[in-house]
Amino acid sequence: MEYRVAATVEEALALLGGRDGSRPVAGGTDLAVVLADGLAAPPLLVDVAGIPALRGVRRTADGIAIGPATTIAEIAARPDLPACLCQGARAIGSPQIRNLATVGGNVCNASPCGDTLSPLVALDAAFVLASRSGTRTVPAEQFFVGPKKTVLRPGELLVEIRIAPARLAGRSAFRMIGKRNGQVISQVNAAVWLALEGGVIREARVAVGSVAPVPLRLKAAEALLAGRSARGLDVEPVLARADAEIAPISDVRASLEYRRLVTGSLLRDALLEAAGI
Ligand SMILES: Cc1cc2nc3c(=O)[nH]c(=O)nc-3n(C[C@H](O)[C@H](O)[C@H](O)COP(=O)(O)OP(=O)(O)OC[C@H]3O[C@@H](n4cnc5c(N)ncnc54)[C@H](O)[C@@H]3O)c2cc1C
Repeated sequence: MEYRVAATVEEALALLGGRDGSRPVAGGTDLAVVLADGLAAPPLLVDVAGIPALRGVRRTADGIAIGPATTIAEIAARPDLPACLCQGARAIGSPQIRNLATVGGNVCNASPCGDTLSPLVALDAAFVLASRSGTRTVPAEQFFVGPKKTVLRPGELLVEIRIAPARLAGRSAFRMIGKRNGQVISQVNAAVWLALEGGVIREARVAVGSVAPVPLRLKAAEALLAGRSARGLDVEPVLARADAEIAPISDVRASLEYRRLVTGSLLRDALLEAAGI
């Protein structure tokens, strides 16, 4: 296997598009495990972690642009990013993992339990994908198509994650549960984003992870939240709607019954925090 370090996006795209089966690598915290287990054998790995254009968080006229090679540790520490995304980043692994792992790697790995996925879906983030033949923008909600499956085409690179100003103006919160507090993959996670106006929820976006093949938006629960007063919010009917929308399975991390039970608790906590209660 050949390993090339790209200095620019153009160089990375030329390398990725030049040989079938080539894969980008950023922090390598997911890919190294896949390679060590013999589950993939790409002929070429293109290291994109050091490309300046893919790193950091910038304010733009369209809100905030996050470079996919920004580390999870950096995302966790940014006061200008929505709370649910920072909280999701803080929930990932250990300090060592967070210093290497990137937000783009978390997104493109597309594990249903990835801790930045439900926040990015709740925030209605847009992913800019580039290849040698041009760029396209895909809403986070349409990017994930199955466990570890995305709409990324061969030779395509995630080059930017965008969050619109309206979403930055809302309030949000994230919760996860795992078998212990640190270095653990979520059994369930939940992100809530609310737009509040005079104490009334004008719009709500709710997404949960690890209870369906992809991070799942709970549209029926959202509909019940819209127009409600945040003060004294009765969350029980919302949780009942959420329960009807999820489709958890049992696996090595948790049973489906447990996942159902804790989804309600996580959503309740995230909702109350986002509503400022
Ligand atoms: C011990 C341990 C604990 C962990 N704990 C958690 C946890 O609590 N929560 C959690 O969500 N995850 C966890 N992870 C998984 C992993 O750390 C994260 O998913 C991380 O964000 C992956 O980022 P990376 O840069 O290391 O990705 P990489 O391993 O470099 O890449 C992952 C995938 O994304 C692709 N990719 C990377 N960048 C791009 C790009 N710009 N464009 C297109 N494709 C790209 C790669 O080809 C690969 O398929 C853990 C991993 C380990 C080893």
